[in-house]
Amino acid sequence: MDINMVSTLLSTKPLFQFHCSVPLPFWFWNKTRVLLARHYGYLRRHSSLSNTNMAQEEGVVSLQEWQGWGTTSPLPTMVAQIVHDLKGLEQDLDAHMSFGGNGGKLQGSFRIQEDKKHRATYQALADSEKKLQFYSARQIACRILGSRGYLCQKCWLPMEDCMCSEVTSCSLFPGIRFWLYMHPKDFLRQNNTGKILWQVFGVDAASLCLYGIPEHEEIMWNSFKVAGKSKVCCLYPNKSAVLKSVQNVFDQEPVTSDEVAPSELKVETTQHFILIDGTWSNSAAMFRRLQDKAKLVWGDEDLPCISLNPGASAMHKLRPQPSWDRTCTAAAAAGLLSELQLLPQFSSIELDKQEEAVEHALTVLLDALTKRRVRMGRSITRKVRQTNIR
Ligand SMILES: [Zn+2]
Repeated sequence: MDINMVSTLLSTKPLFQFHCSVPLPFWFWNKTRVLLARHYGYLRRHSSLSNTNMAQEEGVVSLQEWQGWGTTSPLPTMVAQIVHDLKGLEQDLDAHMSFGGNGGKLQGSFRIQEDKKHRATYQALADSEKKLQFYSARQIACRILGSRGYLCQKCWLPMEDCMCSEVTSCSLFPGIRFWLYMHPKDFLRQNNTGKILWQVFGVDAASLCLYGIPEHEEIMWNSFKVAGKSKVCCLYPNKSAVLKSVQNVFDQEPVTSDEVAPSELKVETTQHFILIDGTWSNSAAMFRRLQDKAKLVWGDEDLPCISLNPGASAMHKLRPQPSWDRTCTAAAAAGLLSELQLLPQFSSIELDKQEEAVEHALTVLLDALTKRRVRMGRSITRKVRQTNIR
């Protein structure tokens, strides 16, 4: 892939515009998905009498199934309701749901009927907040129904391509917590990279927060309220806000101190980093929602944004092993860890090892996706239309 191609790919992603020593293949960003076949046949073949499978046959998403996709939250009420309604509609119409295309999209005659029904529901909702919540919950409900029995719950790859055994977990420094603020359209997407962060660091250190899902947003904001505004920042190139560098964020006070016990350190000095995980156009709305909430909570919509310093990653880019383009979400997190490692107060806590764990998992993901494309006879070099990349 030539440099021009790479820069075209990068221009559509919101986080960072950096040089990339190893270009990503076009399909890594490509939203075109492998057909998600209907999975009830699979479920029947593999069905035991477990509660989860029985619940699935009845059209219920169990707490276990929900949390298996990468969250510790309760099952969102509206997601449960929509799954229930979809199953009800299936019975009413005596038509089976089938999913395909871009992850969780309904297909066939069921789709036509469901489309009418969900549009009417959407139109009848009184305000934009309710509409967003319905939109997000419906996306997520469809993605769960379309992916169950097909995708590995941990790595979001088709089970035959599961990469989990190759991912090495690692403890994240307790002074840092990542929040993956994810657009519903990126949920259960095979080439999503945000999922890598909780695969490596665990769901308590890198937590999923789905945009427009009140249960998730409440959990995230409750943590921010406890932490205080100075402990929250967003990796987002907001032109109208004052951009902080990584150094600015941690200059305010020392993060490590011999007098602070590790447990206190975690509660009182954890810095929360929001990583917006969505397309460029979706990210703007997602950031606006964060600003609106910041104004409600702190009376000030100026949510601090930080930008990574391209100069600080010069050494990083000279390394012999593949280095990742920082425009993808997990690589942005790796870039952040790389910069923090350069600050004196962090020099002894091995953030570089944590960064390497993320980069390794990204390499594993790219390999898994590449192998899949090759096996399916798909090109890994063809050019891609700009509208299809992210
Ligand atoms: Zn897996």
